[in-house]
Amino acid sequence: MNESSHHVVVVGAGFGGLEFTRALDGAPVRITMIDKRNHHLFQPLLYQVATTALATSEVAWPIRHLLRKRKDVTTLLATVCGVDRAGKRVLLDDGGAVAYDTLLLATDARHAYFGHDEWEPFAPGLKTLEDATTIRRRILLAFEQAERETDPAKRQALLTLAIVGGGPTGVELAGTIVELAHEMLRGEFRNIDTRQTRVVLIEAGDRILPNFAPELSDYASKALERLGVTVELGRPVTRCDADGVVFGETHLPARTILWAAGVAASPVAEWLGGGSGPRGQGARQARSDRAGQPGDFRRR
Ligand SMILES: Cc1cc2nc3c(=O)[nH]c(=O)nc-3n(C[C@H](O)[C@H](O)[C@H](O)COP(=O)(O)OP(=O)(O)OC[C@H]3O[C@@H](n4cnc5c(N)ncnc54)[C@H](O)[C@@H]3O)c2cc1C
Repeated sequence: MNESSHHVVVVGAGFGGLEFTRALDGAPVRITMIDKRNHHLFQPLLYQVATTALATSEVAWPIRHLLRKRKDVTTLLATVCGVDRAGKRVLLDDGGAVAYDTLLLATDARHAYFGHDEWEPFAPGLKTLEDATTIRRRILLAFEQAERETDPAKRQALLTLAIVGGGPTGVELAGTIVELAHEMLRGEFRNIDTRQTRVVLIEAGDRILPNFAPELSDYASKALERLGVTVELGRPVTRCDADGVVFGETHLPARTILWAAGVAASPVAEWLGGGSGPRGQGARQARSDRAGQPGDFRRR
């Protein structure tokens, strides 16, 4: 048991939080690690879970187990919803609070739909284990439904997957989905030929992987097209619904749409900006955020 009086609270056991905790090994502090999930997630391999190549247990590890040898660290499963800076406490959504001397906020980003949150049910993004299993279920069910569908247009829509966003996640998803359809599932169905599956990668900019060198974008585009992916550039998506996706003048009937186009910051800045008041303000802030009314508590 570490008897140090200096208490460091780390919120988020992702790459940042774990690395920070690792670096404090041997420091004269006691640490409380708080995460709303009981597992650390290796996000770079999530696309392989979403496309059936890996099981969930291969990309997620219990935080408590990872930190079991660190007697200076206490792990808590709890959701932080605010920070009371004046009182030096993090506020939990169950009404609890944890006092700190030093606080590290290392919470994650979420998907951003550019003001179109109504697209989310039709176009899930990939950030959590739940996202990956949702996507995997949708992809596999589309093939199952296509096997039983007799209307050719509906069947083709079931065999069309649109991926919105040509960054690394979109590119990885497109490449592995087309391999799944064209190679791994080949020969397993009787009424459909999974090689007829269309995988369309839609990127609003003029090249995929815009953060990489242009020659790498070009190389990746050609590699995807060789695999059988259709790469659509230069036309932003303007609609996603149960029938498919609209970009430019094109309506693409697609029963599976995946979102890899935008990231929103975690609410940390709001916690720090608005959490210094009496206990409970932060909690109300977080609840109103979830209801889509950020900042609502300030008006009370
Ligand atoms: C699909 C995908 C592929 C990626 N591929 C790569 C790659 O190939 N290479 C690369 O370098 N990067 C990649 N990244 C990015 C990389 O995973 C992130 O940059 C990294 O995970 C960020 O680390 P973090 O510690 O900031 O957040 P995270 O790893 O997201 O961890 C945040 C933690 O905070 C917890 N948390 C969030 N909110 C709360 C709350 N309110 N209360 C308590 N706990 C909370 C979460 O449960 C989570 O455990 C990828 C990301 C994704 C989504």
